[in-house]
Amino acid sequence: MIARLLDKIKTLKDSRKAVILAHNYQPGEIQDLADFCGDSLGLSIKAAETDAEVIVFCGVQFMAETAAILSPHKRVLLPDKYAGCPLADMITAEQLRGLKRDHPDALVVCYVNSTAEVKAESDYCCTSSNAVEVVNSLPTERPILFVPDRHLGQFVSNETGRDIVLWPGYCRTHVTITKEDMIAAREKYPDAIVMAHPECTEPVKELSDELLSTGQMLKFAAESDATRFIVATEVGIIHTLKKQRPDAQFIAASDRAVCPNMKKITLDKIIASLEDMIYEVIVPEETRVRARKSLDRMVETLPAK
Ligand code: SF4
Repeated sequence: MIARLLDKIKTLKDSRKAVILAHNYQPGEIQDLADFCGDSLGLSIKAAETDAEVIVFCGVQFMAETAAILSPHKRVLLPDKYAGCPLADMITAEQLRGLKRDHPDALVVCYVNSTAEVKAESDYCCTSSNAVEVVNSLPTERPILFVPDRHLGQFVSNETGRDIVLWPGYCRTHVTITKEDMIAAREKYPDAIVMAHPECTEPVKELSDELLSTGQMLKFAAESDATRFIVATEVGIIHTLKKQRPDAQFIAASDRAVCPNMKKITLDKIIASLEDMIYEVIVPEETRVRARKSLDRMVETLPAK
C-alpha cells in the first residue's frame, strides 16, 4: 500500500518537475521520501538552487512562504492549507508596525518562523542557529526589537549581553517541555547529553548541556562520541537522529512535544497536491521583495563559509 503511494508520488514528482522538501519535524515516512530534509531556511535555499519548477514543502505555511520568497519563478505548494505555525501567527505586520512606532530608533530582527509580511517589516531575519551572530553584528547604539519568539530572543540577549525588546510570542510545542520533564530525564539517564532548542523555556534551557538549532543538533550528534542523548525539541527530529546514528539512543525529553501542524502532511495529501497543484502559496511581489531584503541582510552579516 505505502509502496504504491510512494510510486505514485515519484511519478507525479517527475512529471511536474517538482522537488519535495521535508522539515526535520515531519513524520518519518515524509522525511524518508523527501529530496531534501532539514530546517526551513536551509531547505528553501537548496530548493532555490535546483532547476525544479515546483516546490512541494512538507512543513508549515511560513516555510512555504520562505521558499516562495527565495524562488519567485517556481510554484510553491503546501499540501495542507491548514498547516500553520501558531508562533508565526503571534505577531501581525500591523502589530510590528505599532512596535516600531514605539521604538523608532530600533532595528527589528525577526526569527525566520514569521510570516512573509512580518519579514517584510523587519530589518534582519535570523534562524535559531545564526540569531546570536546576526545580533552581534548590529551597532551597539541601536536598540533591538526581536520577534516573535521570546524564548529564542532571551537566549540571544543572554549570549550577546544586548538589551533586547522581546515580543511575547512562543512555540506552543516547545513550551510543553517542562523543567520537571528535564529533571526526570536527567535522573533516569544520568550519562546522556541533553540537547535543547532555544525555543524552550528558560528553566528547560538551564537544565540542558547544549543549546542547539535542529541543524546543529544533527551535526552535534553526528560528531559526538556519546551514545545517549536527551532531545528537548519537537519529537520528529528523533527519526533523522536515529537514521544518522543508529548506534546511539535518542530519548525525547517529553513525548508531548508534538507539533500538530507539522503532522498534517500525509502521503495522500502530497499526491493530491501534485495532481491538482494545491495549495499554492503566493507572496505578493511587493512583500516578497521587502522580505527578501531582510533575508539578504541576514546573510550579509554572517562570515563567508
Ligand atoms: S514546532 Fe512550534 S515553531 Fe515549529 S511549526 Fe510547530 S508551532 Fe511553529
